[in-house]
Amino acid sequence: MRTERADFLICGGGIIGLTLARELLNSGCENIIILEKENTPGKHASGRNSGVLHAGIYYSPDSLKAKLCLQGNFLMKQYCREKGLPLLETGKVIVAKNVKEAETLKELYSRAVENGAKVELIDTGRLEEIEPYAKTHGTALYSYYTAVVDPGAILKSLHDDLVASGKVRILTGTEFRRPKGSRAVLTNRGEIRFDMFINAAGAYSDRVAHCFGVGLDYRLIPFKGIYRKLRKDKSYMVRGNIYPVPDIRNPFLGVHLTRNTKGEVYAGPTAITALGRENYRFPEGINAEAFDIAGRSAVLFLVNPKFRKVALTEPRKYIFRFFYEDTKRLIKNLKPGDIVSSEKAGIRPQLVDWNKKELVMDFVVIRDADSVHVLNAISPAFTSSMVFAKLIKERFLT
Ligand SMILES: Cc1cc2nc3c(=O)[nH]c(=O)nc-3n(C[C@H](O)[C@H](O)[C@H](O)COP(=O)(O)OP(=O)(O)OC[C@H]3O[C@@H](n4cnc5c(N)ncnc54)[C@H](O)[C@@H]3O)c2cc1C
Repeated sequence: MRTERADFLICGGGIIGLTLARELLNSGCENIIILEKENTPGKHASGRNSGVLHAGIYYSPDSLKAKLCLQGNFLMKQYCREKGLPLLETGKVIVAKNVKEAETLKELYSRAVENGAKVELIDTGRLEEIEPYAKTHGTALYSYYTAVVDPGAILKSLHDDLVASGKVRILTGTEFRRPKGSRAVLTNRGEIRFDMFINAAGAYSDRVAHCFGVGLDYRLIPFKGIYRKLRKDKSYMVRGNIYPVPDIRNPFLGVHLTRNTKGEVYAGPTAITALGRENYRFPEGINAEAFDIAGRSAVLFLVNPKFRKVALTEPRKYIFRFFYEDTKRLIKNLKPGDIVSSEKAGIRPQLVDWNKKELVMDFVVIRDADSVHVLNAISPAFTSSMVFAKLIKERFLT
């Protein structure tokens, strides 16, 4: 391959890379290249998620997540409407399994209101009108703005628009290997020169950043999310989204029920530490790094009680009985035979601050001389992506 050159070279063609390219294009940039190691879009987190547009409920009000989620939700909905892409504005209910969780709902309500979300604490009568099969302990939280999209359709639409502009080239099957001198990188297909490099490599973003000497205190731990499904003739039991009350000290929301844009109801995802960044099912995606990942998980297990709780409770959800128990807490009359297995699985690349041995709860962006690194683009980064791209452009690229 001859040496290519870009004003902006983006590593990663997931939702973060694509929306960043769109934002740069809209502000007049004419020469953007996206490197994508896979041959098709959406092979990783952006194409394997729940497809829920979150609505700013859980996040600490001073966080980027809180600042971006709701606005991102509105922008993504607007995009779906403009492009005629599937959008289910079904809202969501969060249900409590006991008195303690019902108390936590009040805290979630206050957080949500502070974040600008439209939410309401509802009684069981109102819950029954919204989700006839949902069950709760006295009260539930209803989020009006939560919606469901088809992530694959959004990725395809963004991809096609970028390519059609003639100003963005998406080089699929092209893997970033390492920086090469000043303002150039080496890929499996040769060298590419750039004015500014943007790392949007998802599950590999720590590794790419480390190649530039950036973010050395951070390491990723992959968490696997497996899903199961409600049997087709039972999908009437869920109209929109039914979520449990999460432990808000951790970044995972717990096994929930979501009706997707095709009318299928998925239960999941779990948050089980995986042995590889692409370890979607055993033994796929397990390589020599498995020892490192296991070592990191072992250290966290010893020193971090929040991580230990996740590590002790989540893996048992591989066993049907435990997964069923979690799902049964959300809806009435659910029988074991109503849940069937599914191929769907995703990996959440969770950033860890290795000095503090803490899971990082917010998005992280770091700028170096000629490069910007998007780290920890975890949920709700799909929802937030369009406004997150604006923020990155305004704060880090101008
Ligand atoms: C199970 C699950 C459920 C989720 N549910 C939701 C939800 O309901 N709502 C929500 O808002 N968010 C959700 N999320 C989070 C959301 O999916 C992610 O935050 C988002 O997709 C991250 O996008 P990304 O572009 O950073 O990563 P990715 O989609 O992983 O994209 C990164 C891309 O970089 C490429 N790449 C990596 N290394 C290289 C390299 N060296 N060279 C070239 N290319 C490279 C990869 O192939 C990949 O395509 C969920 C995530 C998971 C896993």
